Amino acid sequence: MNEMILKFPARSENEIFARNAVAAFSLPLEPTLAELSDVKTAVSEAVTNCIVHGYREKEGWVTIRCRVEEDTLTVEIADEGSGIPDIGRALEPFYTTLPGEERSGMGFTIMQTFMTGFSVESAENVGTKVTMSKKFGVGKARNAG
Ligand code: ATP
Ligand code: MG
Repeated sequence: MNEMILKFPARSENEIFARNAVAAFSLPLEPTLAELSDVKTAVSEAVTNCIVHGYREKEGWVTIRCRVEEDTLTVEIADEGSGIPDIGRALEPFYTTLPGEERSGMGFTIMQTFMTGFSVESAENVGTKVTMSKKFGVGKARNAG
């Protein structure tokens, strides 16, 4: 078991750093490039949500907690921002509260598709926490040869 905590200001330039830090942390589990790419995409979507929705481009902190245990990476991504009034609706594909801008309402759908486990906790004006896990080596023979 190994863990790390990362905390950084909610600025878009930190999104690349965050997704690469999580990818680097998971390297001891020997993920495939496809698996790493899935993790980076999911982290990127969650961090972007904290910045654009949680804090609405205002100042705040994003906290990422990572854990690796056996062949599974668990990532929690949290903000202390606006919160989500109706999680059920927010999870629907194409649902966005920022239509007409560059948002398509697919972030949560992407996270659910690319990761093995996914859940959201949120409270209005308290914040939002997304917990995702990825089990590596699903669907391929590992350690073969
Ligand atoms: P896209 O991710 O495709 O750019 P999007 O961010 O609107 O568009 P999702 O990531 O699926 O789509 O999020 C759906 C909706 O959930 C958002 O429009 C927003 O209303 C709400 N939401 C998501 N994350 C947060 C958050 N951290 N804080 C507050 N609201 C959030
Ligand atoms: Mg999004």
